[in-house]
Amino acid sequence: MRVLGIEGTAWAASAAVYDTETDETTIFTDAYQPESGGIHPREAAEHMRSAIPAVVWRARDHAGDDVDAVAFSRGPGLGPCLRIVGTAARAVAGGLGVPLVGVNHMLAHLEIGRHRSGFDSPVCLNASGANAHLLGFHGGRYRVLGETMDTGVGNAIDKFTRHVGWSHPGGPKVEARAKDGEYVDLPYVVKGMDFSFSGIMSAAKEAVDDGERVEDVCFSLQEHVFAMLCEVSERALSLTGNDELVLGGGVGQNARLRAMLGEMCAQRGARFHAPEPRFLRDNAGMIAVLGAKMADAGDTVAIEDSRVRPDFRPDDVPVTWRAGEDV
Ligand code: ATP
Repeated sequence: MRVLGIEGTAWAASAAVYDTETDETTIFTDAYQPESGGIHPREAAEHMRSAIPAVVWRARDHAGDDVDAVAFSRGPGLGPCLRIVGTAARAVAGGLGVPLVGVNHMLAHLEIGRHRSGFDSPVCLNASGANAHLLGFHGGRYRVLGETMDTGVGNAIDKFTRHVGWSHPGGPKVEARAKDGEYVDLPYVVKGMDFSFSGIMSAAKEAVDDGERVEDVCFSLQEHVFAMLCEVSERALSLTGNDELVLGGGVGQNARLRAMLGEMCAQRGARFHAPEPRFLRDNAGMIAVLGAKMADAGDTVAIEDSRVRPDFRPDDVPVTWRAGEDV
């Protein structure tokens, strides 16, 4: 089966072709880069509108006439961006006369890790821009085991970097500057398997305003935030009795986060997998891969029922592609 995937929840206008026979995924992405500040929803939608036709065309061209289904990111994400992607997906699926598949973006971040690792039923830490949560499979659904009580992890880091005047995205800049940093005290907030980033971000901004070296604040920000994510991931593994962890989301590109999670898993005899960076940040490859599993399970959507869902929670999705499993 060959699936054309389209992603467009926020900044990445992306299309991909996934071939189930060869397990090859080819991704075409045109990224929105804000001129100043963070992601402006109106500008992101304008970028989506102008960039989606070209990336979809490249994917169509790559796939030739051999497309069996079209999958699109149905949510969660920015409504105006999602509506453009939904329209493009309906047009391509309708034009080709193939089924349409509406994919939950957060489950795509998770499933690409499960797919690439070959793990059976891992706990997943989604560390993306707008989200941060732990998911585990139980009773036919992915359950939210823990989540941020305020902002997503990448957005929190980006707010700090905007404060110090750095361009978007901030995560890679914090990672680079942290290499020359030393420890300063910042708040650490974990409650069970939930966590909060707002206090630590305010404290990090204040620390820079009060004259701490920005390298030291970047180092400590990473150590605190990533230690919080490690603690809740370990708790999720321990409480579920699971011994597999996968990482998803753009912040997962951070080498320090991957090293900390890898070490935690090694210490408790668990296996850890982080997909390659092109599958961690927003990308249509993960939409096409999960779209193929859903299409194979007959989980398609009629065009008239395919409205987008900006608040689409991962635990709202009946996991048809794992029917019969109850881990
Ligand atoms: P979501 O997937 O929840 O809708 P999103 O669309 O913002 O969120 P992703 O592509 O998963 O995004 O992640 C983007 C985020 O990843 C940005 O906040 C960016 O700063 C962060 N990021 C990218 N590279 C790194 C890095 N090396 N270290 C830390 N954070 C990073």
